[in-house]
Amino acid sequence: MQASLRCIAQSCGAHFGIEEVLYNCPKCGGLLEASYSGSFAPANELKRTFLDRRLSNAPLDQSGVWRYRELFPFLDDVSHVVTLREGNTPMLDGPIAAAYGGLDRLTFKHQGFNPTGSFKDNGMTCGVAQARRLKMTRVACVSTGNTSASMAAYAAAAGLEPLIFLPHGNISFGKLAQALEYGARTLQVEANFDEILALVRVLAERLGIYMLNSMNPFRIEGQKSIVIEMMDQRDWRAPDWIVLPGGNLGNTSAFGKALRELHALGFIDKMPRLGVIQAEGSAPFYEFSQRHGEGAFRAIAKPETLATAIRIGDPVSWPKAWHEVQVSNGVVEKVTEQEIADAKAQIGRCGIGCEPASAATLAGIRRLTAAGTIAHDADVVAVLTGNVLKDTDYIYRYHTGQLEAPGGVKIDSKFGNQPIVVPNDPDRIAELLS
Ligand SMILES: *Cc1c(COP(=O)(O)O)cnc(C)c1O
Ligand SMILES: [Zn+2]
Repeated sequence: MQASLRCIAQSCGAHFGIEEVLYNCPKCGGLLEASYSGSFAPANELKRTFLDRRLSNAPLDQSGVWRYRELFPFLDDVSHVVTLREGNTPMLDGPIAAAYGGLDRLTFKHQGFNPTGSFKDNGMTCGVAQARRLKMTRVACVSTGNTSASMAAYAAAAGLEPLIFLPHGNISFGKLAQALEYGARTLQVEANFDEILALVRVLAERLGIYMLNSMNPFRIEGQKSIVIEMMDQRDWRAPDWIVLPGGNLGNTSAFGKALRELHALGFIDKMPRLGVIQAEGSAPFYEFSQRHGEGAFRAIAKPETLATAIRIGDPVSWPKAWHEVQVSNGVVEKVTEQEIADAKAQIGRCGIGCEPASAATLAGIRRLTAAGTIAHDADVVAVLTGNVLKDTDYIYRYHTGQLEAPGGVKIDSKFGNQPIVVPNDPDRIAELLS
């Protein structure tokens, strides 16, 4: 098996060595992806191998990413891998959420069960393995969110130094707390996100730091395992739809690549359609899809949403993601802050819970069934991207009627659940509970 980095720009398609430290195509600036030539083992043989590995105590086999390593064979030597037993996330039925979304049945694939609480772990274990293979000692990302939490954990476990760059005064405390706990050196820069990204690129080159931002092609390879594991858990029966939130669109790119590859290799016999859901105030990809991809992609200068994990105005992976939406006959939808908040409470009522960005999936499904795009009896999997405890401030505010959308618009706590103050009096409490 031969692995290389390939430029995805149709007019270019240049190949580069898999050990070159590249984030964009040096010829045209296009996005790069891992590309393989050579023959894969037959699908039935690999399915058997994946199943057998569930009985194994070997760390790599216990990982819900590396169990499927034959499907992203970019490493020359698996001794570079550090695993925290990422993946292995459950498929959960949510009947209350299904009814709310206008479906007979709905299954959630819950990536919030990952070691650091988000799907970023699926990709980060691969990005960090590549960093070790390249003999890098420091890794960096620009992020206040789940990427920094995940990178910090994997770098720490691998004995690398994690560096996190973030805009000064623009911090998400829950997620930053994880990064600090895992020992990341955290630098707050007096600049905006794009300026910091440019700065880190200069520093990365000068100081030999490996960048693990969202355009890193090896993170995308790892995120393919979300779909691969999902199909394994469904005995390789592809659903009609896979619905996910869209921010930087790395996950959309990874899901589409995984589905195309699984289909081409004979693991699944049909392509599910992708449903990508954006928050109304951060929906450049939705807007682009409404124009059927005609004209230039228009970034949003000031993206707004309380779902901070998808508050992205200029998504780096949009060219890949647009290709995947088209190939899968997918759709892009947008939802309001109120719709996200209510959908999130409904997912909570299933005993499942998730972070705000994840709940955009159910809000989007509700819209798409109402429009007749998704049939009520369709077989749908929604991917919950992050853990309920990532953003407890949002939850408390919603349930106590204090949640405000950007611009000060009050969110109606339709499914609010206020704590009740009671006197120390059994009669009064019994009366209240009867
Ligand atoms: C990163 C993230 C997203 C957005 O994923 P993209 O690949 O950037 O589109 C959504 N939800 C959560 C919880 C995330 O951490
Ligand atoms: Zn190119």
